Amino acid sequence: MENRVLITGGAGFLGSHLCDRFYGEGWNVICMDNLITGAFSNVRHLDGKDRFTFIDYDVTNYINIDGPLDLILHFASPASPIDYLEMPIQTLKVGSLGTHKTLGLARAKKAKFLLASTSEVYGDPQEHPQKESYWGNVSPTGLRGVYDEAKRFAEAMAMAYHRYHGIDTRIVRIFNTYGSRMRLKDGRALPTFFRQALKNEPITVFGDGSQTRSFTYVDDLIEGIYRLVQSDYVEPVNIGNPEEISILDFAKEIIEITESKSEIIFEELPADDPKIRQPDISRAKEVLGWQPQTGRKEGLIKTMDYFKEQVLKNG
Ligand code: UDP
Repeated sequence: MENRVLITGGAGFLGSHLCDRFYGEGWNVICMDNLITGAFSNVRHLDGKDRFTFIDYDVTNYINIDGPLDLILHFASPASPIDYLEMPIQTLKVGSLGTHKTLGLARAKKAKFLLASTSEVYGDPQEHPQKESYWGNVSPTGLRGVYDEAKRFAEAMAMAYHRYHGIDTRIVRIFNTYGSRMRLKDGRALPTFFRQALKNEPITVFGDGSQTRSFTYVDDLIEGIYRLVQSDYVEPVNIGNPEEISILDFAKEIIEITESKSEIIFEELPADDPKIRQPDISRAKEVLGWQPQTGRKEGLIKTMDYFKEQVLKNG
């Protein structure tokens, strides 16, 4: 029997890489996206192929899919802090209503369901590195609350459908990920620093740059997700590269890699910006036999050509 997967947010950065992976593994892929932060150009190369369908749709509404479905990957959501500050209601709706609708669809189709969750469920963490057992430190009314709480609700909803309706669910907690198809101007540190460095413009470090992040190369993340789908593990699993770096050192690293003449300038730190973030990946190692294969510098060098192209096209 053929396998058929629905990928919500399939035209986004991660969604489109998942479309490629599942298509490449022989699946029938339905990519659903309302294109508010995704871009059709991310999946244009698949369009017209007989195992690929694109549907322009907002998954916060009732979803109709003809025929069987074996798997739903729920990746629809604005995901950069700038995006979810500009679209707070859509962010809350896609994490809550969108998760409810896609879980309802999974129930109707007897499909497996994987939720794209996030390291943001840990908020500004008081445990370091973050294990899946940590409950987090999130301000529900803060600026990031719209994303963090929507994803926390989504996890609760996935577990409720698992426990109450017996749906075969998976939860991946994704840490900062980078690679081709990131939007040059999505506001996140990595594309912003690349753009600024490649144009020899000042690099904008927020706060004093002592806050840390741990950046994962997209191919590693997709491999982790693929393994999680194939496993029978229902509890959340962190997927991320534990190589931690301060944002100031990261800015310097991008300047070095791009051989840029940019200087670093300091701007105000946004509210609720987490001070530290590093995944504990013991669970992924044990349950999935997964660990990242691409070091940060190697991954950044691989990604640089993509950003060079983007700067030429879009400035
Ligand atoms: N950041 C920065 N300059 C920028 C954009 C972001 O210094 O132009 C900082 C941001 O305040 C945060 C870190 O870089 O501390 C990572 O931010 P990003 O938006 O990439 O994602 P986050 O991990 O905060 O969700």
